[in-house]
Amino acid sequence: MTVLYERVALIGLGLIAGSMALAMKRAGLAGEVVGHARSAETRQVAREIGLCDRVAESAAEAVEGADLVVLCVPVGAMGQVAAEIGPALKPGATVSDVGSVKRAVISAVAPHIPEGVHFVPAHPLAGTEHSGPRSGFAELFEGRWCLIVPAEGSDEAAIARLEALWQGMGSLTDRMEADHHDLVLAVTSHAPHLIAYTMVGVADDLGRVTDSEVIKYSAAGFRDFTRIAASDPTMWRDVFLNNKDATLEILGRFTEELFALQRAIRIGDGDHLHAYFTRTRAIRRGIIEAGQDTDAPDFGRGKRV
Ligand code: NAP
Repeated sequence: MTVLYERVALIGLGLIAGSMALAMKRAGLAGEVVGHARSAETRQVAREIGLCDRVAESAAEAVEGADLVVLCVPVGAMGQVAAEIGPALKPGATVSDVGSVKRAVISAVAPHIPEGVHFVPAHPLAGTEHSGPRSGFAELFEGRWCLIVPAEGSDEAAIARLEALWQGMGSLTDRMEADHHDLVLAVTSHAPHLIAYTMVGVADDLGRVTDSEVIKYSAAGFRDFTRIAASDPTMWRDVFLNNKDATLEILGRFTEELFALQRAIRIGDGDHLHAYFTRTRAIRRGIIEAGQDTDAPDFGRGKRV
C-alpha cells in the first residue's frame, strides 16, 4: 500500500492510538509514527513495546513536522491538547480526532486550529473494554465503520486522504453531520453503556443475590453487561458529560418504553410483550444482515482476535 502521510503524530497512546499505530504500520500507510502520552509511565511502556517509531516528551514536540495529527485522548481533554499543539502545527497538515462525541469536540478543538491547517474529525466505531498502551491490536478496525464528520468548509482532498487512511486500516467509511452523529451514537452506544453500567450496579446492590451467584450463574446477557461496564471510567464520564442532550433524549424515550413494559408485566398484558419482542427481534435480524454482528454480542464493539 502507498504511504498516505509521511509523518503521523498520535496524541494519547491508549487502545485506539495503539491500534492505529499497529494497523498503519502493518499496511505501510505512514512513513513515521510519532506518539505522545500525558504520563511518563505510558510513554515508557510505549517505548518498551515499540508502539510507535518515536515517543515525544510533549504534545507540541510530537506534532512538529507531522502531516497528520490524531487526537486520541478522552473527549474532555481534547480542547486542552488542541490548545497545546495549535502553535506547533505544520501549515497544510490535517488534524483529526477519534472522540466518541463530535459536536463538543469540534467546539473545543476548532478554535485552536490555525489558518492553513485542515480539521477533519472522525470516530471509529470499534473498541473493547480494555484501555492503555498495551491494549491495542492491528485488527481492531477491520470491517468496522469509521464515521468522518467534516467541519463546514473542510478541504475535500484532506477529507478524502483521511478516508483512505481509515480504509487502509480495514474500516468502512461514511460521512455524517456532527449533531446527527451524536444522536445516532446516543442510541447505538452511549445509552446502552449507561444501561449496562446500571444493570451491573443493580446486581451489586441486590443483597438477596450474592456476588458469587451473580458471577457463577451469569448467562450471556449479564456477562456482556459486565464486560461493557468494565470500560474505562474516564472515557465514559467524558462521553456522557459531552453528549448530554442526545443521551438524555434517548434515556427519556427508554424510560417511557420501560414503564410501558413494566405495566404490561404487572397487568399481565402478554400481547403487548409479545408484539414488542417480535419487533425487536426483527431489528436484530437487520443488524446481522448488515454484517455488524459479532460472535460475542457486545453492542457493536470489535471482537478481540
Ligand atoms: P485509553 O486507552 O484510556 O487512552 C487514553 C490516552 O489518552 C492515554 O494515553 C492517556 O495518557 C491519554 N490522556 C488521558 N487524559 C489526558 C489528558 N488530559 N491530556 C493528555 N493525554 C491524556 O483511551 P482510548 O480507549 O484509546 O480512547 C481514546 C479516545 O478514543 C477517546 O476520546 C474515546 O472517546 C475514543 N474512542 C474510544 C473507543 C473505545 O471503545 N475505547 C472507541 C472509539 C473511540 P496516560 O496513559 O498517560 O494517562
